[in-house]
Amino acid sequence: MRDIDHFIDGSTYVGTSGRFSDVMDPNTGEVQARVQLATVGEVDKAVQGAQTAFEEWSGTNPQRRARVLFEFKRLVEANMDELAHLLSSEHGKVIADAKGDIQRGLEVIEFACGIPHALKGEYTWGAGPGIDVYSMRQPLGVVAGITPFNFPAMIPMWMFGVAIAVGNTFVLKPSERDPSVPVRLAELMIQAGAPKGVLNVVHGDKAAVDAILTHPQVHAVSFVGSSDIAHYVYRTGAEHGKRVQAMGGAKNHGIVLPDADMDQVIKDLSGAAFGSAGERCMALPVVVPVGQKTADELRARMVAEIETLRVGVSTDAGAHYGPVVNAAHKARVEGWIQKGVDEGAELVVDGRGFSLQGHEKGYFIGPSLFDHVKPTMDSYREEIFGPVLQIMRADSFEEALALPSKHQYGNGVAIFTQNGRAARDFAARVNVGMVGINVPIPVPVAYHTFGGWKRSAFGDINQHGMEGVRFWTKTKTVTARWPDSELEHSDSSFVIPTMA
Ligand code: NAD
Repeated sequence: MRDIDHFIDGSTYVGTSGRFSDVMDPNTGEVQARVQLATVGEVDKAVQGAQTAFEEWSGTNPQRRARVLFEFKRLVEANMDELAHLLSSEHGKVIADAKGDIQRGLEVIEFACGIPHALKGEYTWGAGPGIDVYSMRQPLGVVAGITPFNFPAMIPMWMFGVAIAVGNTFVLKPSERDPSVPVRLAELMIQAGAPKGVLNVVHGDKAAVDAILTHPQVHAVSFVGSSDIAHYVYRTGAEHGKRVQAMGGAKNHGIVLPDADMDQVIKDLSGAAFGSAGERCMALPVVVPVGQKTADELRARMVAEIETLRVGVSTDAGAHYGPVVNAAHKARVEGWIQKGVDEGAELVVDGRGFSLQGHEKGYFIGPSLFDHVKPTMDSYREEIFGPVLQIMRADSFEEALALPSKHQYGNGVAIFTQNGRAARDFAARVNVGMVGINVPIPVPVAYHTFGGWKRSAFGDINQHGMEGVRFWTKTKTVTARWPDSELEHSDSSFVIPTMA
């Protein structure tokens, strides 16, 4: 049995806890490896490694740090096939999608390669008589990231790409379900020229997370995962004096107005609802056609589209999507399908009971489609995170706008229409953090920022882009005067200085 070890202070570290978590092959349902679960002491070891590295790394000029990231990007690209296969074998997403996961992370690395520009700071010459004011962004020290299973490459890179570029050193606690790619990324970072201790990976469960959240030398924590745990991480980290951003779950809606290009809508919806087996925080699991005619057409065409979808093993180049991540998640998704039926929604296509010949123990779920879903149903209110699309019929634009706006989650939303005025009005008024206009998965590009609203994110600073730079740095503002000491002595002043 292959063991997946920690990566601390520039090399593999074999854990001593004696506790492990099984890493499954979702295609076969078999255990393929086991991953170490760290002790409090092992988390501390990683933090100490990062602390030691901080002095040199934070004192390295930004251009040199950027050069390491340029080389890291080159190495990840050179190893793309190996990384994508590894990712796919533990997660279950198809190879092309695994490459997309890595590529979206690399786009944040590309942004981070421009860090000298982003760190330039502000300067005011002559803010007062002989007084200049300037501000600079300084790194925080040792910082940490805790990541979910569904993007094991992209989300770690969202975090450590920017955090390291600005001069911090990093401890990553990836998901224990697909932990291998994060370790490979840390190895490649060292190969790219980062000093040891700049990027460490500790595997673990709640014990490791708590050790990070309460560690006095960890200054900031970025978390992505489900909402209850995000809220816990936010509260606990803040109580221990850390800066925390904690992104949570989602239930994204796609609004379809009667004038939408229905051919395109069906293609977009199918990819966004069922791609990666629906295990994306920016998936579109709810579609809201406006008007009964639009709804009837959408439903009929979606049923036909679903018939063309191919569910297969993650290495099958012809498969649209692969298995979900593990048996518990498969049971959970199927439980939500049953709940939807019990609540009175109409199950138009039932993906349960899907079996792939030769892979009967794999965690496959066929695409499912519900119609006549109502806002009061738990299966609508909660995140399913599987290949399930729910149709919610709305009679008007206002009714459709209210659904995502009132939902407990507010990660992403999309509107499909040819009416620019309606789209503009929707984008301005909808109570959701990321909006797509004829774009089904509106994940912002790396130099903008990513973040949802309501229970989709706790904390107030987004991932990557300039918000990421702000999150991973603290601002220092200097007010400077260089008087000629021979000529310019001022008396003591006992009132607050002003520029009046
Ligand atoms: P999860 O919440 O189960 O796990 C996330 C991380 O928290 C993992 O590293 C895990 O080890 C750790 N963890 C698990 N249980 C814990 C506990 N009790 N205490 C402390 N830490 C714990 O999430 P997941 O199943 O890996 O990922 C799927 C979820 O992530 C979905 O809800 C999805 O919407 C969300 N997600 C959100 C975004 C976003 O940007 N908003 C992006 C991707 C995924």
